[in-house]
Amino acid sequence: MIKSKSLTILFGIAFLCSALYMTPCGAAEGQLKVVATQTMYADIVKEIGKDKVDVKYVAQPKFNVHFIQPKPSDVRNVSKADLYVNAGLDLEAWSDPLLEAAGKSDLFRGRERNVDMSRGVRLLDVPDHQLSRAEGDIHLYGNPHYTMNPENVVVMAGNILEKLKTIDPANAAYYEENEKAFVARLEDKIAEWRKLCNPCKGQEVISYHKDIAYFADFVGLKAEQYIEVKPGIPPTPKHLEFLEEYVKAHNIKAIVMPTYYPKDAADKLAARVGAKVVTICQNVGELPGTDNVFSFFDYNFKQISDALK
Ligand SMILES: [Zn+2]
Repeated sequence: MIKSKSLTILFGIAFLCSALYMTPCGAAEGQLKVVATQTMYADIVKEIGKDKVDVKYVAQPKFNVHFIQPKPSDVRNVSKADLYVNAGLDLEAWSDPLLEAAGKSDLFRGRERNVDMSRGVRLLDVPDHQLSRAEGDIHLYGNPHYTMNPENVVVMAGNILEKLKTIDPANAAYYEENEKAFVARLEDKIAEWRKLCNPCKGQEVISYHKDIAYFADFVGLKAEQYIEVKPGIPPTPKHLEFLEEYVKAHNIKAIVMPTYYPKDAADKLAARVGAKVVTICQNVGELPGTDNVFSFFDYNFKQISDALK
């Protein structure tokens, strides 16, 4: 009896949602429905679109964005979306299959309602020869971890603004105003972060994965050796022996890694050579207290400056 009553209530709510708003629950009438692949993109869209957008994201922040498995609910959300925001390049190998499963062709890569956040970003580690995924490489078009430098957030905000203005010209002035305020706050914080990281300049670190390039570029760190043998390939005993000698010879104080890679190799290496393992986030919301662009960078830059000062 109770069960059937709850079911009636559920159907009632579903009916009300469709009758009142003619959009899925969660999005109010007139709001643009946006699906972002990552939490940082979702946060930037919210900053610029505010109450004019309903934003959902695909990749849960505690996981490695290279290897996400979208859920049926993600396919449903994308199939109803007005805009799809993604990394471009080959960071999210699951993104094109997700778009195909959702079947809304104007959201496909290169189409009108697809925002490629890498547009306009100065890419690092662009290979000078063709790489092959068969050899284990997962950065075929250059380093795709560009969200780690706050200056690239300014570029990404510009990409979002441009697309929102195109598909919703009636609210163009509103989006422009929000973007301007967001970028102004960001630029103030960028100056603050630069100052905080200044003492780290020129120091060398080891990183687990090649996701540190843009972070290192902003901070002024040197990062040339990785715990992984190459992006996507875990360390071998021989490689770890090499790293031990390298860390000693270069007087390296820190091994930097995100939360979701196995920590044992980094911990062992750090213990042998007297270095620290520094955890930094790759995704907004990866750790408590990192749930927006500002607190995300606050956390990361504090971690590295504390370790290297
Ligand atoms: Zn990567």
